[in-house]
Amino acid sequence: MPTEAMRKPTGSRSMNRTAVSDLILVSAVVIIALVLLVVFSINRADGSVFEITVNGKVYGTYDLNKDTEIDVYGLCVVCVKDGEVFMKSSTCKGKDCVHSKPISKSGQTIICLPNGVVIRVPGESEVDAAI
Ligand SMILES: [Zn+2]
Repeated sequence: MPTEAMRKPTGSRSMNRTAVSDLILVSAVVIIALVLLVVFSINRADGSVFEITVNGKVYGTYDLNKDTEIDVYGLCVVCVKDGEVFMKSSTCKGKDCVHSKPISKSGQTIICLPNGVVIRVPGESEVDAAI
């Protein structure tokens, strides 16, 4: 009879308990993740510097608050204006990087895949680590 199997004292009870504690654990993890997400997005302040890397190697770190133009190996021209950085021109096909929106906040990037050029505003923690 199927009902007898359901009544087995150890089996069903411990299974239920496991399911409930799993549920609590999963909800706790989800809540913690959400809290961290909110905290991080609040902390995502405007960065003050950005970094250009070419094929994974750092080309240079620059001030976001100084209007300037940086020629990267003749591959592309990075432009800083009004506290934002954007790809002004590039030799790559498609020019997705040139069409990317200007960036200014920690964690944002503009990537030119064909040329291997990445413009990146470092996150808070990374800035601290660099100092
Ligand atoms: Zn590009």
